[in-house]
Amino acid sequence: MDKVDLLDKFGKISANRDQLSAVGRDPTSIVIDRIISPTEAIIDGKPTILVGTNNYLGLTFDPECVAAGQSALAEAGTGTTGSRMANGSYAPHLALERELADFYDVPHAMVFSTGYAANLGTLAALVNTGDVVVMDADAHASLYDGCRMSGGSVYRFRHNDMTSLGNRLRRLAEKASRTLIVVEGLYSVLGDRAPLREIVALKREFGAHLLVDEAHSLGIYGEHGRGVCEELGVMEDVDFIVGTFSKSLGATGGFCASRHDVLPLFRYASRPYIFTASGNPSVIATTRAALRQISARPQLRQKLHDNAERLYRGLEAMGLRLGADVSPVIAVRFEQSEDAARTWERLLEAGIYTNLFVPPATPDGSSLLRCSVSAAHSEEQIDTILQRFREIIEPAKSRAAGS
Ligand code: PMP
Repeated sequence: MDKVDLLDKFGKISANRDQLSAVGRDPTSIVIDRIISPTEAIIDGKPTILVGTNNYLGLTFDPECVAAGQSALAEAGTGTTGSRMANGSYAPHLALERELADFYDVPHAMVFSTGYAANLGTLAALVNTGDVVVMDADAHASLYDGCRMSGGSVYRFRHNDMTSLGNRLRRLAEKASRTLIVVEGLYSVLGDRAPLREIVALKREFGAHLLVDEAHSLGIYGEHGRGVCEELGVMEDVDFIVGTFSKSLGATGGFCASRHDVLPLFRYASRPYIFTASGNPSVIATTRAALRQISARPQLRQKLHDNAERLYRGLEAMGLRLGADVSPVIAVRFEQSEDAARTWERLLEAGIYTNLFVPPATPDGSSLLRCSVSAAHSEEQIDTILQRFREIIEPAKSRAAGS
């Protein structure tokens, strides 16, 4: 038998990477030379409109957030240099937890260093050997990794398919009571929402628990900006909400909020909470300021949805194949990954930055360009994005028709 070397696996990784850049530029190698605003940057020396950032509310340059970060940096230093369990929490970590709990109108919230850690840490604390996770097939990688860390049995159900979820729960019989259903509020690649009312009805029928990842929907849906759970009126039925500070809040970090009194005990059972450094004071400060903006400026949400509608309808009018729901995450789908990659590259050359997704990173094996809209986009920027798409798509369509 051939001897396998530890480093052999990188041959395959390198082949995959070469495939990514086969049609031109490697999308993972983009360097933003200079960031100018939430929607503009210099890339390859060229002014570029950003429509692939997750900066939904455009708060990264918000004067109040920036000022809060600057004074925290001056007052509390550059970093905490340790974990909360070993080295102590700073008072603002606790203040943010209280503010998040109040924001969701639940008794408890817990802050983690990233959204990724929040998902790992929540699932690892909550689900143990003998417990079960029933998870939407399109759930984010951090939820899959959290399941792996948890030691529980994991079953997937077909994306947003209530028959598939119902069948899974039925088959679990009495184990349903130690089952956690895991879904996202707004799905991050195709921009569609979870049918949470139906999911809650099944959760109740089978006596399971429910966790919703609102990473992409915090600040975007619901009267108070709490997310899809609020918009669909199911807050009371959701057991755990997880999310991130890295999208609408324009920072880094993550959280879990819950009405269950066990949440504070997660601190003792969650390795991704215990064994990592806590959020920097400046990051905690900008997050707190951004959370206040979500409550104080509902007009940001309205502007975001108006922009999303304008971009979605414009792309739809070009005959492009889009995700089913109009939302701030707009997926432009392609039959062939080469077409997606070529369009992505041409858009970049034309000063428009989108995100390229090709298999295996896409939920249904399709290839797509993901646009994420921001409240900070002006109508003129949205129209420029549409114009550039048109200039690239239409000649490609006539070439295809002629061939
Ligand atoms: N959950 C979802 C649904 C996400 O899309 C992401 C990040 N893309 C995360 C969690 C992880 O968040 P973070 O980047 O803050 O670690």
